[in-house]
Amino acid sequence: MAGADAPYLRKWRKRNPGKAAAYCLAWRKRNPRKVVTYSRAYKVKHRAESVVLINAWRIRNPLKHAAHRSVAAALRNGKLIKQPCQICGSLIVQAHHEDYAKPLKVVWLCKPHHVKADARKRMEVK
Ligand SMILES: [Zn+2]
Repeated sequence: MAGADAPYLRKWRKRNPGKAAAYCLAWRKRNPRKVVTYSRAYKVKHRAESVVLINAWRIRNPLKHAAHRSVAAALRNGKLIKQPCQICGSLIVQAHHEDYAKPLKVVWLCKPHHVKADARKRMEVK
């Protein structure tokens, strides 16, 4: 999005957050290749900050980090094998933990269903 950071546009986005989000989403749908190019450039430009954020998250969430590492190791050594999403059957899946204290007890879910499962889990905890 050329010029998207112009001051007048920044002000407009702040005043119209709903319209700005809808416009952004529509633009991303029209320009998938540009989205990939920008995402890659952003990732390279912000790698150092990203490493800091990831390490801070790992320090704040040692149990979750250990569970993620256990799943990655189990996938490497064949102890765990990815299964289709339990809800929709998608083959692009993530390991969902109901209990991080049981790192290899996972439910395979696609990203949208994983997000919903985590949201439901957070509601139950509170
Ligand atoms: Zn799914």
